[in-house]
Formats: sequence, structure tokens, C-alpha cells
Amino acid sequence: MEYEEHMRTLARDSRQKEWSKRKWTPSPALVGKGPQGMATKYKGQQYDPEQYELVHDGWDHDHCLFCWQSICDCGGENCTSIGFTDGDDWICESCHQRVIVEKKDPKTN
Ligand SMILES: [Zn+2]
Repeated sequence: MEYEEHMRTLARDSRQKEWSKRKWTPSPALVGKGPQGMATKYKGQQYDPEQYELVHDGWDHDHCLFCWQSICDCGGENCTSIGFTDGDDWICESCHQRVIVEKKDPKTN
């Protein structure tokens, strides 16, 4: 139930944003130099070069906000390379149609 609430809130917030259809491309990421190597999408934030390395194409996929579909350019059959973005988050074409255009609740199954 809480999850559905969360998704409905996310849908409402997303309808306030401008989404433009784009082909997905890799973006820079900050990759931790430790053994975990955690990556964070780089948006111009300050970082400690002792701890992080800026990798030009380091962010190699995104997920649809609503259905977690992989959005990337790997060409895999479970991935899609076209989606809608607000410049930060990504949503897939079918969720954009359903949630943003038709203003329906996101699928939660
Ligand atoms: Zn989706």
C-alpha cells in the first residue's frame, strides 16, 4: 500500500515536469575509488578527487521511474534506448503515455 502511495505521489510530481523524448546517451559519473566503486551521476557537483574519479561515459544506464525498465544504448532485447527525460530522471515510452499523457496511475505490479 505504501508503495502504491509513493508511486502515485511520484506520478503527480512527474506530471508537473517537462518531459522530452530523447535517445538515451551515457553521461559522466563519479566513480568511487574504493573497492565498492559506487557510481553517482555527475551533475557538476563538488567532489573529492582523492575519493572519486570522474568517468566521462561512466553512467551507462538509467531505469524508468515507474516500471524500472532499463533505458540504455546496449542494444539488449530487454532494454530500450528511447525514453523521456526531464534532464535528470528517465521514464519509458509506455509509462510516459500511461502516467503523463493519460494521467493514469502507474502500474504497480
Ligand atoms: Zn516504464
